[in-house]
Amino acid sequence: MVGDVAIGGNAPVVVQSMTNTDTADIDDTVKQVAELSDAGSEVVRITVNNKDAAKAVPYIKEKLLKKNVDTPLVGDFHYNGHVLLTEFPDCAQALSKFRINPGNTGTRGRDKNFSTIVEQAIRYDKPVRIGVNWGSLDQQLLAQKMDENNQLPVPKESKEVMMDTIIESAVRSSQLAQEVGLAKDKIIISCKMSGVQDLITIYRRMAAVSDHPLHLGLTEAGMGMKGIVASSAALGILLNEGIGDTIRISLTPMPGGDRAEEVRVGQQILQSLGIRNFIPQVTACPGCGRTKSTYFQELADEIQGYIREMMPIWRDVYPGVEDMHVAVMGCVVNGPGESKYADIGISLPGTFEEPKAPVYVDGEHRVTLSGDHIGKEFRTMLDDYIMKRFGRKEAEQV
Ligand code: SF4
Repeated sequence: MVGDVAIGGNAPVVVQSMTNTDTADIDDTVKQVAELSDAGSEVVRITVNNKDAAKAVPYIKEKLLKKNVDTPLVGDFHYNGHVLLTEFPDCAQALSKFRINPGNTGTRGRDKNFSTIVEQAIRYDKPVRIGVNWGSLDQQLLAQKMDENNQLPVPKESKEVMMDTIIESAVRSSQLAQEVGLAKDKIIISCKMSGVQDLITIYRRMAAVSDHPLHLGLTEAGMGMKGIVASSAALGILLNEGIGDTIRISLTPMPGGDRAEEVRVGQQILQSLGIRNFIPQVTACPGCGRTKSTYFQELADEIQGYIREMMPIWRDVYPGVEDMHVAVMGCVVNGPGESKYADIGISLPGTFEEPKAPVYVDGEHRVTLSGDHIGKEFRTMLDDYIMKRFGRKEAEQV
């Protein structure tokens, strides 16, 4: 468990995210955690990189709780986690999990520093993620593995040795944590790499040698479409093989961009694979020469935006609404078919078609809209459908 969120076993795959604010800036961090949580992030990681950040953590937690945001916070520690968690017990207490990078616990006394963090996890009853990252791999262990490899009659490729080292670093760290006294079920493991094929290979190997819950993520996935496609390709294959208990999409946002995009991408990967639904799915055709205007694209965008905007409220009031399927189609060719298949769908008129838009509800033609307010009328029908089908919790309880 990370806070109240179950990870591993039969629990649903959990979507995580990470802030990019200065943690010492309490208000900025609270605001971003709340935004990520609103977007559906079930766990949020924040960096705890210095004393000011460690001091800020309990205040961040307190302010979030006052806003009714109880999303578990994970502290990301590198180099000085052993010092910060010891000096700032309120920070340790406020966090729901500690992330330890075994490659970044110090060159001198690294096992001791690692053990100190684990002791704090035991003291405050917190789980840890042993997060190995190929960009910050334990250099002493890598050098040792390289030396061993050079003694072999037929040495392996250096990349193979690096992969072996990543696995060994994770397995050794897990063993050390358990020797210190941390329960096995308090350990989550990740082995992040930035290449798609490398990530698939390393997680397949990790899944074969470990029964710890695995956190998946393509590290440094990149910006925009590149990051989204690469993450989807890598995580899609692994999740489809049943590998992965929690995910994070490491997108680089555009300057001033929306950090919550990484949450939506993670959710969409799981939803597209049929693993978990988070938001009503909108099916829209790509459009073609049969659509003379951008009207249906605008309507599809409007409906999608409306659903996203309403989801933080609908999630609580209309349980199950995330399984709903909406269709917004461009013309008569596939429009009625897709619309009938959806829970509620609209087929807009294409070029040379009568300016009318049939709406289908639960597979039946319900009404045909026309005129200048098709979008608004369809949205009203959507609201009505959701209210009737998914009910109000309060109404059910009366
Ligand atoms: S449904 Fe009509 S408009 Fe949409 S892609 Fe198919 S043929 Fe083109």
